[in-house]
Amino acid sequence: MANIIDGKKLSQEIKDNLKEKSVEFEKLYGRKITLAVILVGENPASQVYVKNKIKATEYVGFKSLSFYLPNDSTEEQVADTVKSLANDNSVDGILVQLPLPKHINETKILNLIPASKDVDGFLPENVGKLMLGMPTTIACTPYGVAKMLESTNIDFSGKNAVVIGRSNIVGKPMALLLLNMNCTVTICHSKTKNLKEICKQADLIVAAIGKPKFVTADMVKDGAVVIDVGINRTENGLVGDVDFENVKDLTSYITPVPGGVGPMTIAMLLNNTYLCAVRKENA
Ligand code: NAD
Repeated sequence: MANIIDGKKLSQEIKDNLKEKSVEFEKLYGRKITLAVILVGENPASQVYVKNKIKATEYVGFKSLSFYLPNDSTEEQVADTVKSLANDNSVDGILVQLPLPKHINETKILNLIPASKDVDGFLPENVGKLMLGMPTTIACTPYGVAKMLESTNIDFSGKNAVVIGRSNIVGKPMALLLLNMNCTVTICHSKTKNLKEICKQADLIVAAIGKPKFVTADMVKDGAVVIDVGINRTENGLVGDVDFENVKDLTSYITPVPGGVGPMTIAMLLNNTYLCAVRKENA
């Protein structure tokens, strides 16, 4: 019988803890922790994500600054907004909501964020530190997954972990985190052969593919832990990358969609903002 890892509940605990820490921070340093969010254009999914991030930022008692730039903004206009926030000492974290409109170079814009304010953990300096096992700002989604795994109290040391997906924001940092947890890690992707056989050996599967119900029961070993990062909008609403209904009874732990990894991503964004603020005050 599967245990459902409740991302909603776990993220609420993290946010409530941050709410207390934010009061202590303000008492100690005489200012509010501040997160700036930049949204360019009117992508409906991005608008929802930004709205949820702002709501959560305010919930924990941080100051939220939001910048809405029109779709036809020039790269220079977006760059100027990022640069002014980079130079603003009262700002602890800068988040540029992706994707940016096609005419704007994302890498160029992201690289204007100082690594110390990179709350998404996307910049080379922060990814490099993760690679080296140094303290750093860790990408929110894999960091949230790591917290979910921690909540199971399972010792993952020496376990076979399979990450499906090799994106820079989910798959690769996820694999590094699992390696830091002493897992034996296999990264699978669109060119992987024998995916089913590889997954069948896994004590832990993290699915970050972007294909509805891609991970099916015949790919999952009895008692495995299955984490579903996927968010797919279908006619039947939000669906993960795992065929939850048919997979769940095989697993020891599984995450649902919605209510799994998604809420954890936002909680870890706030946690990263807190850590950036504390590091700044103690630099
Ligand atoms: P991506 O498109 O950048 O990467 C998808 C990965 O899946 C690629 O590395 C690709 O090689 C792999 N892949 C594609 N087809 C495959 C196949 N047939 N077999 C094996 N591997 C295959 O996506 P991403 O940004 O990493 O996101 C993945 C999913 O996670 C998406 O559904 C996205 O919406 C979701 N996501 C959720 C959160 C969250 O907060 N829950 C955050 C980020 C992304």
